[in-house]
Parts: sequence; C-alpha cells; structure tokens
Amino acid sequence: MSKILTIGEILVEIIATDRGDGFREAVPLIGPFPSGAPAIFIDQVGKLGQECAIISRVGDDDFGWVNINRLAGDGVDVSGIEVVPQGTTGSAFVRYREDGSRAFVYNILHSACGNIELSTDMLGLIDSCTHVHVMGTALYAPTVVASILTAVERIKGSGGTVSFDPNLRPEILDTPGMREALQTVLSKTDLFMPSGEELFLFAEAKNEADAIAELLDKGIKAIVVKRGAKGASYFDGQTTLNLKGFKVEEIDPTGAGDCFGATFVTFWLQGASPVDALRYANASGARAVTRAGPMEGASTKFELDTLIKMQGKA
Ligand code: ATP
Ligand code: MG
Repeated sequence: MSKILTIGEILVEIIATDRGDGFREAVPLIGPFPSGAPAIFIDQVGKLGQECAIISRVGDDDFGWVNINRLAGDGVDVSGIEVVPQGTTGSAFVRYREDGSRAFVYNILHSACGNIELSTDMLGLIDSCTHVHVMGTALYAPTVVASILTAVERIKGSGGTVSFDPNLRPEILDTPGMREALQTVLSKTDLFMPSGEELFLFAEAKNEADAIAELLDKGIKAIVVKRGAKGASYFDGQTTLNLKGFKVEEIDPTGAGDCFGATFVTFWLQGASPVDALRYANASGARAVTRAGPMEGASTKFELDTLIKMQGKA
C-alpha cells in the first residue's frame, strides 16, 4: 500500500467578499478557511481515500484546530502536525482585484510553521511513506527546506517516488541556497507538475516541446502541465495527452492546482493509466474553482465521477 507525504505550511485563509485593491480600509471578510498549498494538496488526497500524512506546525489556537479537524476528518494522518503551545497558526488575508489578480497579507514566516524540524517520531512517519510531494511554496525557510530534503532522500532512498509542483513565487528563487535546493529536488523528481512559465524554470529551452524533452532527458519520468480553464497535458516521452478543461463557473481559483496535483498523484500511484489520472485531475481542478475557500472545493471520487459523467470524457 502506498502512503503519500507532504511537508510545509498550514494556514487559515480569510477572504474579502468584495473586489478591490488590498486591505487599507475596512472590508467585509469570510473565513477562516483551512489552507496552505501542502494542506490543500493532502486534504484532497485524503478525500480520495488514499493513505497520506502531512508534517507541519500550528499554534494551539482555533486557526490551528480548524485545520487539524478538517484534515483528520478527511482521512489525513495528522500525527506529524506539531501543536506549538505558545505559537500562532499562519494566516493569509486575500482580496481579489477587479482584474482577477490577488492582494495578500501573509503571516507565515513568523507563525508556528515558520520553522519545521523533524523529531524522531516524524522520521518514523517519513519512513512509513512511499511517496513525497514537494510544494514550491513550502520552500520558505531553511529548516523547512532541510526537512523536505531529508524526506526526499529517505523516501527516494528506500525505493519510493517524488512529485514536485514548483508553485513558486519568483522572488523565492533569489533566497540564498534556493536554486541548489530546487535542483536537488528536481534531480530526484519522478513526476513534475508545473503551470505556465514554471515549465521553463529549470530548462534552457525557450519553447514548450523542447523544454519537455530537456526535462525528460534529466530523468524525470512524466510531466503534467496545468493550463487553468484550458485544461492540462501529460508527457512521458512515449505518450502525449491533451485534455480540455471541464466547463464550470469559476468562483475562487485558489487551490485548483493543489487539488489537481493531489488527484493526479493519487491515481498515478494507484496504477491508473495516464489518461485516466489526467481526466480525474482535470475534473478535480475544475471542481475546486467552483467553491469559495481554497480547500472547500476538494472532491470525493464520487463527485469527480459525477462531473466526468455529466460532461463526457473531455
Ligand atoms: P494555483 O493558483 O492553485 O497554483 P495552478 O496555476 O497551479 O493554480 P491552474 O492551471 O490554475 O493551476 O489549475 C489547475 C488545473 O485545474 C487546470 O489544469 C485545470 O485542470 C483545472 N482548472 C483550473 N481553473 C479552471 C477553470 N476555470 N475551469 C476548468 N478547470 C480549471
Ligand atoms: Mg500552482
């Protein structure tokens, strides 16, 4: 049996209900919603009934417990979430601008998950997992990077697999040691899941086909490219697949890439064909955008089957 691990930030997200530029005035808000890219990812894995765990830290506060309760309720092993008695759980305030871009106020670095160190129990948890998913957003602090690299080494070293969603804020690349850390992760990656320009972060090539060939040449087994409402593609050297997006009403795009990735990895590890894994992932990303709140649109397999049946095999 496979077990999927991820490591990184746990946050609550608090969303402005009207559009506008940032938070320099009082605005109506909804939340707290459980959030953090690795948390959204692992919640979607758990909802599909796949064994999984997350290593992170929260404060002993309501924002922490809203996350732990949601993840545990959706089937995630939360034994690797340390509750820091004097800590404060991370948060992100989000307001959509008229043009659809997002203004954020974050508290991550100075929150409970600003440091993640591995206890002996957590090393045991890592060794019980067969796959680790690396989220680029989680590479925000040296101790977190070190913990992720340890998990990658141990899981890969015992015959497991690695997936990597760069999900990068470009300024992260300028942090000392970051490019080296990313190269290390990439050199161990079996499944690479970029969106948009992220495909070119680690390639010299300037067009998509050449960048795919270059990355597959480095030993990556498969690449899945996310294309928002346009759908997604899959490449493994032998097979190329392009699926159009499902037609849905987009309410809140946050979390689509994370739910998509979780669903692809789950089906891929369970031995589904690439086209089935891509179709379920595409449906999962589409359903994710139809609900306000980053984790609220995570899907069960039944919900994915229903969307696929309704719209035919896109
Ligand atoms: P994120 O903002 O979460 O990091 P991302 O850039 O990693 O997102 P996207 O390409 O935006 O990922 O979305 C992931 C997948 O979700 C897409 O490949 C597609 O399958 C699905 N998806 C996203 N937006 C829509 C939409 N508006 N309609 C249908 N499907 C969508
Ligand atoms: Mg993304």
